[in-house]
This record gives sequence, structure tokens and C-alpha cells, in this order.
Amino acid sequence: MALIVQKYGGTSVGTVERIKAVAEKVAKFQRDGHQIVVVVSAMSGETNRLIGLSQEITAEPTPREMDVLVSTGEQVTIALLSMALNEIGQPARSYTGAQIPIQTDNVHMKARIEKIDELKMRADLNAGRVIVVAGFQGVDFDGNITTLGRGGSDTTAVALAAALKADECQIYTDVDGVYTTDPRVVDKARRLETITFEEMLEMASLGSKVLQIRSVEFAGKYNVPLRVLSSFQEGPGTLITVDDEVDMEKPVISGIAFTRDEAKLTVRNAPDTPGIAYKILGPVGEANIEVDMIVQNVGAQGATDFTFTVHRNEYAKTKKILEKSIQEMGAGELTGDDKIAKISLVGVGMRSHAGVASRMFDTLAKEGVNIEMISTSEIKISVVVAEKYLELAVRALHTAFELDKTD
Ligand code: ADP
Ligand code: ASP
Ligand code: MG
Repeated sequence: MALIVQKYGGTSVGTVERIKAVAEKVAKFQRDGHQIVVVVSAMSGETNRLIGLSQEITAEPTPREMDVLVSTGEQVTIALLSMALNEIGQPARSYTGAQIPIQTDNVHMKARIEKIDELKMRADLNAGRVIVVAGFQGVDFDGNITTLGRGGSDTTAVALAAALKADECQIYTDVDGVYTTDPRVVDKARRLETITFEEMLEMASLGSKVLQIRSVEFAGKYNVPLRVLSSFQEGPGTLITVDDEVDMEKPVISGIAFTRDEAKLTVRNAPDTPGIAYKILGPVGEANIEVDMIVQNVGAQGATDFTFTVHRNEYAKTKKILEKSIQEMGAGELTGDDKIAKISLVGVGMRSHAGVASRMFDTLAKEGVNIEMISTSEIKISVVVAEKYLELAVRALHTAFELDKTD
């Protein structure tokens, strides 16, 4: 007998029919003698719909009310799935985050889980019930509803698995595992049997939304065996593994992540003096805007160009802040581009292989794709290119690094 935490994403519970199919699947695991805790997302599209409603009322809703609003999506699916389970003779009980309780800090819309009480869950499990928990939500120490950031149900599942010391955490989604890159963009993408936590962390943080980054952090920290599988077809999926020994046979690159979520801003002819980076980025940071890549050119004639990227949603806000800073500094002009994409090669194999960067740049050059920014770390290389080249570039790199599936 195993204790398994299973998470079903939005598409997997997107219709009543699919909810019934999930119930059948869960009941079968229970019949096979396992104890099952299920975490569900809202029905697909529902979280976006709720956000849309808020925007019809105000451009700046308070984060507290946003959490009250968007957490309702998951309350619907826990109730429906529990009903579907009860209907087929499998006793089940639904719980919201606050009912468990899943205790978080008080940072609305990106709360972090701090504590999970497992007592109630144990009692249900021992009574033969399936527990259905709302993903994405928790409660702060004052009783306010919080949410964990987009894609947060993955993190709920892993956190519950850690708290219950589950044998495995299974993330059921609309693809049958983690691929070398998004299979919806590259049809030659290949499913990976395994991927290391370290690589999965990079992939998630660089744009592969198949797992929320915090769920991977959590699983790594608490040693939760984590697997990504399809809701719709049988198969082994992809196991996230602890970093193995350096394997010289392993491909240099394990995967390619990409994102359209960024925008870049350039301050031209900024005075090339000490403190300039702070003068430009200080006010941006004070406005709680996260900066990703940063490039400062070599100065000439006392002036320099300074470029950085922010989340695309923060582009307009950042521009406004910079317009003000530029006036104060007496710097030149401000330019920006929100039609960019970031493409990243990820692989622990990079540690033991040289020449990855040059092969990447050569491949992009042959396709006529101009690289606008570059950043590297131990196991990844990222470039910024014009968004219109994104798919072409990812496909070319996928082939160049021998990631294409062969059959
Ligand atoms: P869910 O609603 O089940 O949480 P998501 O839409 O959040 O599902 O995540 C699954 C999606 O992630 C897939 O449909 C796929 O388009 C995308 N994706 C991006 N990169 C990858 C990758 N490397 N491997 C698999 N899926 C990926
Ligand atoms: N429903 C939430 C979202 O759409 C959480 C999740 O699906 O994981 O982001
Ligand atoms: Mg998701």
C-alpha cells in the first residue's frame, strides 16, 4: 500500500465528463489498495475568467480581494470531484486550503506555504476516504485567504506530499511528461524518462510552465519523489530525480525553455559614472518590479548604454519610472521593446562540455536570428531574440543539439 498525492490540472478537470473520468481513475488507485490525496486546479480557463471579471471593475483590485476571488475556481472542482467519487461508491471529502489548514505567509497572490496540519487528513485516510484538496490556495495566520501564484496547484500537491511523507507525488496534466521543450511548439520534442531537480528548476524558472518552480524547489528540499504524467493516457511519465553522477553519455543539453513574458528597456547615453546602475535600477526595485537580465555597454566619451529586461506586464510601469529617472540624471533617450522572447538551453552536461555557447550562436546565425542579449550560468545559457523568431530559433536549436525524436 502506498500513499500517493495526485494533482489534476485545469484541462484534466475542464468539463464534467473529465471530472467523472478523474473520479474513475482515482477510485481505481484506491481499489488497488493505495491511499489517495487529490489536489485539483480550477476548470481550465476559469482563473483567467475570474481575473477578467475583476478587470471590468477596477484596474487595481486589492490583492486580498483578488485572492478571495480567484480561490473560488478550485472550490468548485473539489466539490464536483468529491461528488463524482461519492457517486461511484468511493467515499471522498473535499477541503479548501483554509479547512486543512494550509498555512501561508500573508503575501497575497504569491504566498508561500509555511505549515500544513496533517491530522485531519490522516483521520480521513484511515477511514478509507479519498481527500480532495483545493490547489493554489491557503490561509494566512489572520485567517485571510491567500493564493500561491499562477500554476500554484503543483506546489500545493508537493507540499501535501511532503507533509504526509507520501510515497510519490504525481502531477497529472495534458501532456504525458516533461519534454525536451514544449511539445506544442516543437513537434519533434521528446519525452524525458527522467530529469534532475536542478535541471527542472532551471526549466521551470526559464518558462516551462509544466511545473510551477516552487513545486520543484519544495520537492528537492523535502525529497518528494515527483512524477509528471498524462491524465488521458497510461504511461510512465517523467520522474524528477536527484542529481546523478556526471554521466558523460548524457546529452549536453537536456532541454530548451522559452518565454514571451519579458520586455526590454534601454537607457541610451547614460552618464558613465559610479552609481549609474543604482540610479537606473533603484527606483525600479523600489516599485517591486523584478529585473531579469542586465547588460551595460562599455562606456565611450563618458556615456554608456544600459539595457535590462522585466516581466512584460510591468513594461509600461517600468517605462514611466525610467522616464522620470532619465530627466533627473540628464541621460539621453529611452528605448524599449516588448516583442522579445527569451530562449534558454538547460543541461547539467554543460559543466563537463565546452562549446555549447558557440554552437548555440552559430545555429542562430545560420538561421539569420539576431541575438539581442545573452546571459549564462553554470547549467544554462539564455538569449533574447525578437519574438517573431522564437519558434524558428527553438526548432533549429532543438535539432542542432540532437534533441529531436528519432522515430
Ligand atoms: P495544468 O493545467 O495541468 O497545470 P499547464 O498548462 O500548467 O497544465 O502545463 C502543461 C503545459 O506545459 C503543456 O500543455 C505544455 O504546453 C507546457 N510545457 C511547456 N514546456 C514543457 C515541457 N518542457 N514539457 C512538457 N510540457 C511543457
Ligand atoms: N488555477 C490556478 C491557475 O490557473 C492554479 C493552477 O492551475 O495551478 O493558475
Ligand atoms: Mg500548471
